[in-house]
Amino acid sequence: MKLAKIIFTISIALIFSTDILGQGYKDGKYSKEKESDVFVLEKIYEVQKISPYKGGDKPVKNIILLIGDGMGSSHVFAGITANKGDTYFQQFTNNGYSRTASANKYKTDSAAGGTAISTGAKTNNGSVGIDVNNKPVETILEIADKNGKATGMVVTSSITHATPASFISHQLHRKMYEEIAHDFLSTDIDVFIGGGKNNFDDRNDGLNLLDSLKNKGYSIIDNERDIMKFSGDKLAGFIADGHPKGISERGNVLVPSTTKAIEILSKNENGFFLMIEGSQIDWAAHDNDAGELIKEIADFDKAIGEALKFAEKGGNTLVIVTADHETGGFIVKDGNDKTGEVDGVFASKSHTPTMVPVFAYGPSADKFRGIYLNIEIFNKMLEAYGFNKTNISKK
Ligand code: MG
Ligand code: ZN
Repeated sequence: MKLAKIIFTISIALIFSTDILGQGYKDGKYSKEKESDVFVLEKIYEVQKISPYKGGDKPVKNIILLIGDGMGSSHVFAGITANKGDTYFQQFTNNGYSRTASANKYKTDSAAGGTAISTGAKTNNGSVGIDVNNKPVETILEIADKNGKATGMVVTSSITHATPASFISHQLHRKMYEEIAHDFLSTDIDVFIGGGKNNFDDRNDGLNLLDSLKNKGYSIIDNERDIMKFSGDKLAGFIADGHPKGISERGNVLVPSTTKAIEILSKNENGFFLMIEGSQIDWAAHDNDAGELIKEIADFDKAIGEALKFAEKGGNTLVIVTADHETGGFIVKDGNDKTGEVDGVFASKSHTPTMVPVFAYGPSADKFRGIYLNIEIFNKMLEAYGFNKTNISKK
């Protein structure tokens, strides 16, 4: 009898003093977390206020599509937190989500993800600019070119890597870098800036594609300073022989390259299509490196700022920011937007199938609201330009 009373007393005491089921969160009591690393940006950058677009349903003359490779919503939020609550991402008022699954995998890679956005065709992982039957599909860059627009790409990977390749090339596999480089000769792309010069002049087939590019009227420039000084019409700009370095070593290349590309392309009176890629957001996330990730996001956001500043002036440029997929299963676990501290954790070393954000500014930006398949981004761009679909081969 006495023992039962003691047990009863202890049980009651336990219920009131400790959280035996670990469900204290129901009363706002949270278990203590393990301490983890926090990251900050070395330098907070200034964000200019962009006036909201008020031009109504004006025709779209130019499209600037910015792809943050592997950039999920948490990556964006980490960028917002790291820059103390202020980024260009927040200046968009037309936002949506893209579902990124490829034809054969719930987790897409950048080749299928890029091809969906560039052609409107769902394809298999690894495929570049072709559909599930391996049939080449016209890309938005090629269609824009055919319709008299100037075209360009600026990336922080090799220019032959999966994302840019999806916009200009049609190959069975993303790793066919030499074939992809050769496909640059099949279009009239006006400006491209990125790494990967080796795929043009140090090839197994012995061809020197830089000579071929020169014959097509391109200036070949392989140093950043001269790229930024270029004043002609056709530029092949190489910022590295292979992949450019990560942001900590690469420094400020994406932003001036973006400005330069816009400057060259905007000379065309029929308008332009420009794809800008923050290529290495994906790689920082694969590395589960939150410190490098917030730097890549900041770099990308500054490039977004250049696109928005241009779009704000003319009122006929549509700016779209999105991702091909999420990488890292990244979560901002905690942080502080007064100090810019980001405490982020990763659930994966790979891509995840979670939907990715879409931001749009300018005429036709309201088309990008909602949740839709990645292929719809292509359809919406085509519609925004006012191009018809009839000549596009689809599965
Ligand atoms: Mg990429
Ligand atoms: Zn990746």
